[in-house]
Amino acid sequence: MRQAEFLWLDGALPDQQVRSKSRVLVVDESASFDPAAYPEWGYDGSSTYQASGHDSDLVLRPVRVVRDPFRGGDDRLVLCEVFTPDGTPHATNTRARLREVLDAGGAKQEPWVGFEQEYTLFAGERPLGFPVDGTEPRPQGPFYCGVGADRIFGRDFVEAHTRACIDAGLMIYGINAEVMPGQWEFQIGYRGIAGESPDVLNVADQLVIARWLLRRVGEEFGVEPRLDPKPVKGDWNGAGNHTNFSTAAMRSRATGLGAIRDAIERLAARHDAHIAGYGHGLADRLTGLHETCSIHEFRSGVADRGASIRIPRSVEIEGAGYLEDRRPGANCDPYTVCALLLETVCLTDRKAVSA
Ligand code: ADP
Ligand code: MN
Ligand code: MN
Ligand code: MN
Repeated sequence: MRQAEFLWLDGALPDQQVRSKSRVLVVDESASFDPAAYPEWGYDGSSTYQASGHDSDLVLRPVRVVRDPFRGGDDRLVLCEVFTPDGTPHATNTRARLREVLDAGGAKQEPWVGFEQEYTLFAGERPLGFPVDGTEPRPQGPFYCGVGADRIFGRDFVEAHTRACIDAGLMIYGINAEVMPGQWEFQIGYRGIAGESPDVLNVADQLVIARWLLRRVGEEFGVEPRLDPKPVKGDWNGAGNHTNFSTAAMRSRATGLGAIRDAIERLAARHDAHIAGYGHGLADRLTGLHETCSIHEFRSGVADRGASIRIPRSVEIEGAGYLEDRRPGANCDPYTVCALLLETVCLTDRKAVSA
């Protein structure tokens, strides 16, 4: 017997949340990481903003299985796509659209991705580290990558989440304390470890699972991680989800920087389409201040944290690597972000883009 926690994205637009419920079943050890070894299952879509009460049954189809770091042992987390009973992807199933883009040719260029998920820990209505009397903390500066009880808030939570990601077998790359008190980041995706597959579908799935773990670990600590892109108005950094992206051509020394510059040209031509799909409330964060570029502008630069697209200094020196899209908000849908990057960088005919 094993417990499988089925995870799926609900219809709470514009910020879809991860829901889950558990099933006790028998699955052979040898197939226990194979999604096809798990049954399809149903749920009440009228309780997740995905159906009306009159016709509410929706279908969960398992697509990715990892270890369950809470229950341990034989238990698993089973990420699912949502389908309607006639077998078509539900309107909120953005993963299906990413699969289409991959099948339409996006996969040919071997796209890899790594996300930097920023988030803010809330205790009640204020971030951790914000005085309960409603006054402001001292200005930002000492908090980023800091240490000490006067500047770090929520370390135990972060340690537990990192451990949960490792135990689940996710490709967690690292973590750091961010610029605003109570704000943190974890990265997930490419980490240069042989045998791992940082392809976009796998990494986007892992980010969704890591976000579920974030809230699940929060239950243990009585804190609520939020993905709000601008959790505190005023002179405080917002929270983003920088998306690091590469194709085989970008990673090759023979073609690297040329392919990166070509991708940036294509991205420049579709700035508005990307902004529309990079998460809601983005205008509050992309102001041109606080390490962002204005939402109305597209700029790129080497080592420039005020640009829309940054080429890391190390990539320029190497002559190959990846680019960083700094625009996505913390609450972005990783499937939509990847689908847009693939459409723009890998699919569209160059002439069609600049026309
Ligand atoms: P930053 O300097 O912007 O804070 P981080 O150290 O937080 O960057 O994160 C680096 C990110 O870059 C990670 O998510 C990692 O997976 C990603 N990354 C590194 N190399 C590649 C690559 N070749 N293709 C795609 N993503 C990559
Ligand atoms: Mn980072
Ligand atoms: Mn960051
Ligand atoms: Mn970054």
